[in-house]
Amino acid sequence: MWHQCLEVLRDEFPAQQFNTWLRPLQSDHREGQLMLFAPNRFVMDWVNEKYLRRIEEVLKDLNGGQAPRVTMKVGSAPKPTDPVVRSEVAPPVRVSEEAGQTVTEEERSVAATVSETSRPAPAVSKPQTERRTVQVEGDIKHQSFLNETFTFDTFVEGKSNQLARAASMQVAENPGGAYNPLFLYGGVGLGKTHLMHAIGNEIVRRNPRAKVAYLRSERFVADMVKALQLNAINEFKRYYRSVDALLIDDIQFFARKERSQEEFFHTFNALLEGGQQVIVTCDRFPKEISDMEERLKSRFGWGLTVMVEPPELETRVAILMKKAEQANVKLSSEAAFFIAQKIRSNVRELEGALRLVIANAHFTGSEITPPFIRESLKDLLALHEKQVSIDNIQRTVAEYYKIKVSDLLSKRRTRTVTRPRQVAMSLSKELTNHSLPEIGDAFGGRDHTTVLHACKKIVELQETDPGIREDYQNFMRLLTT
Ligand code: ADP
Ligand code: MG
Repeated sequence: MWHQCLEVLRDEFPAQQFNTWLRPLQSDHREGQLMLFAPNRFVMDWVNEKYLRRIEEVLKDLNGGQAPRVTMKVGSAPKPTDPVVRSEVAPPVRVSEEAGQTVTEEERSVAATVSETSRPAPAVSKPQTERRTVQVEGDIKHQSFLNETFTFDTFVEGKSNQLARAASMQVAENPGGAYNPLFLYGGVGLGKTHLMHAIGNEIVRRNPRAKVAYLRSERFVADMVKALQLNAINEFKRYYRSVDALLIDDIQFFARKERSQEEFFHTFNALLEGGQQVIVTCDRFPKEISDMEERLKSRFGWGLTVMVEPPELETRVAILMKKAEQANVKLSSEAAFFIAQKIRSNVRELEGALRLVIANAHFTGSEITPPFIRESLKDLLALHEKQVSIDNIQRTVAEYYKIKVSDLLSKRRTRTVTRPRQVAMSLSKELTNHSLPEIGDAFGGRDHTTVLHACKKIVELQETDPGIREDYQNFMRLLTT
């Protein structure tokens, strides 16, 4: 029954939410009672607060109007002992594999040992070497500067980053505790690095003796290579295993670096066993990192994996107001709103746009008004308008017609999906610089002639069908302004 319930929930919630909170739950159903097991307290509390009501409703529907009693616990479901129970235990292979979580029995038992040993040691009490820079051998320098301006105070909270921020706070307050490792992922410029530094800064603020190492993953690789060359790999190991918190940014650069992955895997395990905190960021969900060892990916899933999403309008406005305040510049909310509406991609671009506007205002002595902003950002906006991605078009079109992106890419040929598909292809031709074959590829590997046909069809329909004409104009507006 839980399996069916999950299927329903999968369609109701965005994939990220589903993957983060619902998919990892395991179930045990007996005697009219459903026990749900969450991998940790954070997930349990969140599910309790945000999803339990809906879960109960769905179960009730599935159960012919009678809801089983649902209780939540931290842990994993007991092993099925008989076939009756087995059928009710959550879809074993799919769930655990796809969630990038525990896999084999052997790993399970290691996991248990690790969490036991890691729990009691609350990090931070090692003798202090120099906190920020540690000289190892010759000219290998392990730098771990934290950017002091990236703090929780300067981080603007919004719906898109609320979870990531809450999890980061928890880790900062209790490093090496229950959420270890913390895996933050999401697109570029959304605040992952900021949050990571904020955690590091907060750990140090609470305990000035704490040794926090922040580095981008390329740096870890370069340091290791150097250490190998200089025969200093033991020092390298000793250093990285001596920190209270290891912060590795942009782990996706580890792909294909096998020796580094190996080394990192051992470092990682040593740290977790020692109750030291590990924080990792990545531009994608662990399972989607290609050329990364499976065991490393599954390890990432043992703690807490949280996504940082693109900020919605209100958050973008709030971020602009905050950045302006930090720069000591007066920015009306009307102006902030205007910029936030124009720049929607990510926070880094938003900041860039604001900087440009401020610099311009400074030079010309003008007030920051919407027309002034439009003029200042003319080139930037033109660039943006040309940079609509096929991905973005597909999402927008699917959402508009209330179908799934996967329908657009599928072979289905019912009217409800073919027309939107043609619209999306035509928009892709008009708004991106991709070639017809590239567009065909992006739509589930279709031939370029299919794309060409779609473009012609849509031109034709715009002449004859006012509905399509209006839709198309709506899309042009949605996608380019
Ligand atoms: P990522 O590591 O995800 O690519 P960064 O952490 O480097 O992104 O963020 C890019 C810029 O945007 C940084 O200057 C950061 O301070 C700023 N930023 C991102 N999110 C926020 C936020 N919620 N509040 C304030 N500033 C933010
Ligand atoms: Mg970053």
